[in-house]
Amino acid sequence: MELIHIKEEMYYLHQAVNIGYIKNNEQGLLIDTGIDKQTAKKAAKLLKEQGLPVTDIFITHAHTDHFGGAAWWREHHNVRIHASPLEKAIIEQPKLEPIYLFQGVDPVDDIRNKFLEGPPVTVDTQVYEGRQTIAGIEGEILFLPGHSYEQPVFCRKGVVYAADSYFAVSYLKKHRIPFMVDIEKACASLQQLLSLEAEGAVPGHGEYEQQFQQTVEANLNWHQQLLDEMEDELHKHSVQTIDALTTAFLNRKHISITQLSMFLLYRTAVLAYVKALAGQHKAQFVIQDNQWLIKPL
Ligand SMILES: [Zn+2]
Repeated sequence: MELIHIKEEMYYLHQAVNIGYIKNNEQGLLIDTGIDKQTAKKAAKLLKEQGLPVTDIFITHAHTDHFGGAAWWREHHNVRIHASPLEKAIIEQPKLEPIYLFQGVDPVDDIRNKFLEGPPVTVDTQVYEGRQTIAGIEGEILFLPGHSYEQPVFCRKGVVYAADSYFAVSYLKKHRIPFMVDIEKACASLQQLLSLEAEGAVPGHGEYEQQFQQTVEANLNWHQQLLDEMEDELHKHSVQTIDALTTAFLNRKHISITQLSMFLLYRTAVLAYVKALAGQHKAQFVIQDNQWLIKPL
């Protein structure tokens, strides 16, 4: 973990999942917390050594790698925690993630792990879109859904703490099919990022970049490529189930998985791409012979 100075009072802790930080005299705003208490402890130590206080935590979205450390902060520091309404619900009841991945059924223990279910933590304040002051720091909050349901991001003085609204290209190459819940919204969020008069951005996974627009464009292209490939895959059969399509797409992308949790995450992403194709009238969901099927159009 490395503390990187962006400009003035703005920093980020660079690691597998970035943690943003903005100082305001005796107050300080942490943006996300990393995955667990070890990460939170490490971040707290590093910030303390640099004389950077933490009084508030802004959580961008309810994925454990972003909020899993918040419970430790709550326990050991006097902090106020901020999140958007739907992300808040999951942060406070983290079992909801394995529940939704397991199609609403009370989930099996296999998927109730630290990657899918972080420690619960109470959120003190709900954030909304628009200008808002947190820890005495005035920022513009944008909701950039697509990778998660709301995903508010914090912008200040031209710097965007963008969380997972876009990914570093190296991250996309590594994961091939990023976790997504809505592709149309993700693309609209990416367009919104392109329209900002920002001087730089730091994604949840990757490095701060001044020319982040190039990376955002690469994300748009990545989604389009996956949509094209998904459409091609759909046309290989007259109809198929979402599970069969997930398997076919994982094979096509040379992804080999051994865990149920991984299958469910990819299945969700595949369904998000198919939903986008359905929205473009290139695919249709049908119920036929007691099966839920996807039909190419
Ligand atoms: Zn995420």
